[in-house]
Amino acid sequence: MKNVKLKSLPGSSKPKAAAKRSAYGPAEVEEIFRRFSVQRPEPRGELEHVNPFTLVVAVALSAQATDVGVNKATRPLFAVADTPEKMLALGEDRLRDFIKTIGLYRNKAKNVIALSEKLITDFGGEVPRTREELMTLPGVGRKTANVVLQMAFGQAAIAVDTHIFRIANRIRLAPGKTPDEVEAKLMRVIPKHYLYHAHHWLILHGRYVCKARRPECERCVIADLCKSPEKTCDIPAPLVELPPQVVPVAG
Ligand code: SF4
Repeated sequence: MKNVKLKSLPGSSKPKAAAKRSAYGPAEVEEIFRRFSVQRPEPRGELEHVNPFTLVVAVALSAQATDVGVNKATRPLFAVADTPEKMLALGEDRLRDFIKTIGLYRNKAKNVIALSEKLITDFGGEVPRTREELMTLPGVGRKTANVVLQMAFGQAAIAVDTHIFRIANRIRLAPGKTPDEVEAKLMRVIPKHYLYHAHHWLILHGRYVCKARRPECERCVIADLCKSPEKTCDIPAPLVELPPQVVPVAG
């Protein structure tokens, strides 16, 4: 999952927009997420993992890297090290070899070993289930903690990554200057019954339709509702369920 780069995000550089409240009323937000839910009834993240521990590791490795690149490295890694104990047994040097295709891999290897140690000493080898405890792990910030809470433990949490930050500001759903501000606004404006999946709906919408360089508005199911000054089309794409999500695999 790529980090948020505040200054370079299209649609996020206007201080006026950042200070405003959501441009949408409750009925409009309901309709936006109803359409996302029809398109993708069961959205899922694209980071491969086999248990909460491997999810923590995958998310920690994904800063400033693509999910595809992380999956390529973690597939063989998790085959040999899918618990904190096995990760420690593998050791930092061999771990580095597995992840050396990922940016910042030296530092990330250190963090993964350190967080494995802490999981064993402080949490009995189990991944904790609260944000506060998760954030005590080396290399785990609020965004990583939210991903783990949502994906591993089924809690409604929104991890504001580069896609969510861009969309929230571009379409003025939850304008904010920082990821924390956007997260708080999204948690307020999104109807409770859509909160659990909202994280993935927004990420996938940003990754595949409302893209950073040029939003593909002609393929967008909320084009008629969208209030972005950047939109190029008012006609919504047909609202149909998309084929089952295929997690991209690096060659
Ligand atoms: S209409 Fe365009 S700008 Fe608006 S959400 Fe859809 S893709 Fe993004």
